[in-house]
Amino acid sequence: MRALRLEAWKSDPVLADVPDPEPGPGQAVIRVGGAGACHSDLHLMREFEGGLLPWEPPFTLGHENAGWVLALGDGVTGLEIEQPVAVYGPWGCGTCARCRPGLENYCEDPANAPVPSGGGGLGLDGGMAEYMLIPDARFLVPLPDGLDPLIAAPLTDAGLTPYHAVRRSWGKLPPGATAVVIGAGGLGHMAVQILKATTAANVIAVDTRAEALDLALKSGADLAVPSGDDTAAGIREATRERGADVVLDFVGSDSTLAMAAAAARTLGDVTIVGIGGGTLPLSFFSVPYEVSLQTTYWGARPELVELLDLASRGLLRPDIVQFPLNRAMDAYRQMEAGNLNGRAVIVP
Ligand code: NAD
Ligand code: ZN
Ligand code: ZN
Repeated sequence: MRALRLEAWKSDPVLADVPDPEPGPGQAVIRVGGAGACHSDLHLMREFEGGLLPWEPPFTLGHENAGWVLALGDGVTGLEIEQPVAVYGPWGCGTCARCRPGLENYCEDPANAPVPSGGGGLGLDGGMAEYMLIPDARFLVPLPDGLDPLIAAPLTDAGLTPYHAVRRSWGKLPPGATAVVIGAGGLGHMAVQILKATTAANVIAVDTRAEALDLALKSGADLAVPSGDDTAAGIREATRERGADVVLDFVGSDSTLAMAAAAARTLGDVTIVGIGGGTLPLSFFSVPYEVSLQTTYWGARPELVELLDLASRGLLRPDIVQFPLNRAMDAYRQMEAGNLNGRAVIVP
């Protein structure tokens, strides 16, 4: 089969012929219905280098995937051939204290995971190919009725990552609260929809691009403001000088982190999701009192089940641009140039 392979750090991936995967005991193979193109893949192709992550190229890209069960290995129960499924992406050991309740994104025994701190498309072969090997069938989540793998694919990362980040801050988002989404791209436009579907907060979206601000408004944002030096002051003004209860930064550069801290309200949450390489100096006076700062990585398996349910009930709808496998690099180039809106999904 054809697969889009990252052969080395800091290089463009290449289309190559690789053997069709076969499932061993407890494993499964899916026919890929969609594989989302994430900005993290661009970080792999452009900035990351050996030693930063606990795995190395070569592998097939594509870490947000859904499709149909093609083959099941010995001992797999509870799944049917041709059943539509989403792939839970962070592959942990399955038995440590974090994995048992489904927080495999924070596995504490990575040496016994299929790949340490990664998954298919991040260290092991992902979904930018006709077929994908799933090393343990528990990583497959059956799709609720009516949900197409094409829609489900971006939900597994562009949806799940902001869902986890929003969900952990639900307690700080009662009616009257304000949430700010910085960077209304693949993850950010989903964050806006998730905030509107699961909280009564006012949602303010921030982006540098007019098209992204339009998409944020279409996704339900109450206000969409251009990103600049006076953005935080504008957010404070729009919240009667209180600031935002929750700020989610899907960029993570020096300037957006500074904006996030300056826009936050006392007792608020500032959550860094974007891997933009920025830093945020922290001192007694640099953030309002009792602001909690955290990074988050992906989400939990039960959260993916909840998210798929929201989507199957029509409460979430990722904005998707489709590309065939042989044009996958065009998707990344458009993303890099700032010409892509919503999420690119590769359809092999
Ligand atoms: P994307 O390219 O689709 O979206 C990024 C958006 O940010 C774009 O709309 C862009 O215009 C906007 N932007 C850029 N600079 C900005 C600025 N200074 N102010 C405001 N907006 C700005 O990317 P994506 O796929 O949504 O990923 C976003 C980030 O999240 C990436 O760094 C990615 O690697 C990271 N990510 C993290 C996790 C995690 O688990 N922590 C998971 C997936 C992706
Ligand atoms: Zn990703
Ligand atoms: Zn584990």
